[in-house]
This record gives sequence, structure tokens and C-alpha cells, in this order.
Amino acid sequence: TTRIVLAARPHGEPTQDDFRTETIDLAAPGDGEALLETLYLSLDPYMRGRMSDAPSYAAPVEIGAPMVGATVSRVVESNDDAFEPGDVVLGYGGWQTHSVEKVRHLRRLDPSVAPVTTALGVLGMPGFTAYSGLLTIGQPKPGETVVVAAATGPVGSAVGQIARLKGARAVGIAGGPEKVAHLREIGFDAAVDHRAPDFAEQLAAATPDGVDVYVENVGGAVWDAVLPRLNTYARVPVCGLVAGYNATSLPQGPDRSGVLMGTILRKSLTVRGFIQTEFAPTQTEQFLADMAGWVADGSVQYREDVVEGLDQTVEAFRRLLTGRNFGKLVIKVAD
Ligand code: NDP
Repeated sequence: TTRIVLAARPHGEPTQDDFRTETIDLAAPGDGEALLETLYLSLDPYMRGRMSDAPSYAAPVEIGAPMVGATVSRVVESNDDAFEPGDVVLGYGGWQTHSVEKVRHLRRLDPSVAPVTTALGVLGMPGFTAYSGLLTIGQPKPGETVVVAAATGPVGSAVGQIARLKGARAVGIAGGPEKVAHLREIGFDAAVDHRAPDFAEQLAAATPDGVDVYVENVGGAVWDAVLPRLNTYARVPVCGLVAGYNATSLPQGPDRSGVLMGTILRKSLTVRGFIQTEFAPTQTEQFLADMAGWVADGSVQYREDVVEGLDQTVEAFRRLLTGRNFGKLVIKVAD
């Protein structure tokens, strides 16, 4: 297998020097294992956390070990009756061309039901994150206003479209006019550019009745603009803080935690963080049924950003954390 290993822990933005490409022989698959050829590798913001040894909900990738990641792969050789060569599966092969995985961790994909890449996006972990975080914590009601940032990504775009299916008004925040136009095309009621100089004014105009649910994907300046728009009893599922994933120090300026706590108190806010794995055991089945239906009937649309070649992985990941992806970022590793 050719694989990309973590060579050093990045300081700030990851660089090519933090990774090394190597080719090794994989051990033959043992009992209950299969040899897989990677077709598509998912790149996701959480991977920045795995590159770091700062405290997290999951252990870091060791220096010298291959980077982890969800993959869509083809079975080459299987030591279990459940799978045979040629099957296409969802697994967790990481940043490499081949992997050996336990078959009980694999899920068979049916390419005739949906393009297999959707298992990494709208019908996979990011789509599930949107579904579980919005519905379980956000609990949008008809007529309420739901705001989400990183809104053209797989999490944000699903949040907005599910909110509309529940009768809420969806407002998306994204970087740049192209992304804003795309949000309007896929049915967001309003869309705002966080890079525009008058972003806060645009957001206020787009939320005339305030904000009842804010799914927090970003943090930073976007959160600063949303906080004063929150209504009494607003819910804030804290899903991600991608604006700060490459940060090396606290932001400049006065400590604003007092303002934050004061707003939480005065407006009786519910601010609740979550990792999607919390809801996976109880909600995955319903999610797959609901989301497959919505994708099939067109009520949830999705956009993918497919980059060719494992050798493009580090550069593509750098773009993800700086908003230079447009849709669910996937590396096409093989045909
Ligand atoms: P996206 O495809 O949306 O990519 C990240 C996006 O974040 C960029 O495209 C960019 O969009 C936006 N962004 C980056 N930097 C900034 C910034 N400084 N200010 C504003 N926006 C910024 O990724 P995903 O949909 O996969 O993930 C979205 C969020 O969900 C992430 O925070 C991720 O960590 C989180 N997440 C959490 C999970 C959980 O279990 N809690 C599970 C999965 C994801 P733009 O150009 O529009 O600004």
C-alpha cells in the first residue's frame, strides 16, 4: 500500500512537511478480515484534531502512523463469507491505497441505490451529524428560524435542508458569493456571506425575527455576529469550531466570556455540545431511512468536491480548513 503518515504534529496550518508518503507491504488479511482497495477517501475537519496531541474526545494519530479516515473501498480478498471480491464497502481505511480491515466494521454499499460517495457525506457521518444534532438538540419548530454556517459543506447543507423539511426558515452563512448563490439554489430562505464587510448587518436583515436555532460549525467572528441575534430559549447545538482548528493562541482583545455567560443567562439559552457518535447507536437506522428518502425525492440535495489522486490529499485538507472546498470533500484514490 502507498500511504500518507503523520511525520510531525502541525503547528497552526498543516504543511506538506508534516506528512510523509511511504509504500509498505500490508500483512495478509487474517480471520474475519478483508483486503480492500481504496476508491474514495473522505476528508473531514475532525482530522485536524487527530494530528494534534491536545486533549480531545479521541486519541491522536501517532507520529509515523497513517492518517485515519473513512473510505469507500472495493473488496480484493475476503476471509469472511459476508463479503466477496468486488463488493463495495464503507470502511475506515485511512489515507492509503489499500487497507486490511475487520469485516464486522464494514458496511456494504449498493451503487444502484445512491452513488457510493454519498456514504461519506449526505448519507454518511456528516449527514448524520446534521440530522442528529439539529433534530435532537436544536428541535426546530415550524416557523422558527434556523441558522447554520459552513452551510455549503455536508453538515451545514443538510442542517438547512432538514430544517426546511421541518417547516422552519433556513438561513445559511458561507464564504463568498458563489457559495451564497448555491445556498439559494438548494432552497435556503436566505444566505449571507461571512466575508462581506457588512456581514453582521446582512445577518440581521436575514433574521428579522431573530434566531431560534443556531447550529454552530464555525465559531470565531461568525459566532460573534450570531450571538446578539439569538432569541429567548434559543438552542445552540455546538457541532464544530472549524474557524479555530488551526489556531495557535487565544484571540486578541478583551475576555468576552462574561458577555457570553450573561447572554446565556438573560436569554435562557441551551448551548449543548455533541459528538455524533453519541446518537449513532439509537438514530442511525432512522437517519438512513429518512435521508435516503429525502435524497431520492430531491428534498435534500448535496454537492461533492472530488479531488483526484492520493497525492493531492494534504493540499486538499489544507483547503478544507480555509474554506477553499465547495461541498463534501472527497479524494478519488482509484477507479
Ligand atoms: P465543510 O465542508 O463545511 O468544511 C469546512 C468549512 O468551514 C469550510 O468550507 C468553510 O466554509 C468553513 N470555514 C472554515 N474556516 C472558517 C472561518 N474562519 N470562518 C467561517 N467559516 C469557516 O465541513 P463539514 O461539513 O464536514 O464540517 C462542518 C463542521 O461540522 C466542522 O466544524 C466539523 O468539525 C463539524 N463536525 C462535527 C461533528 C460532531 O460529531 N460534532 C461531526 C462532523 C463534523 P465557508 O467557505 O462557507 O466559510
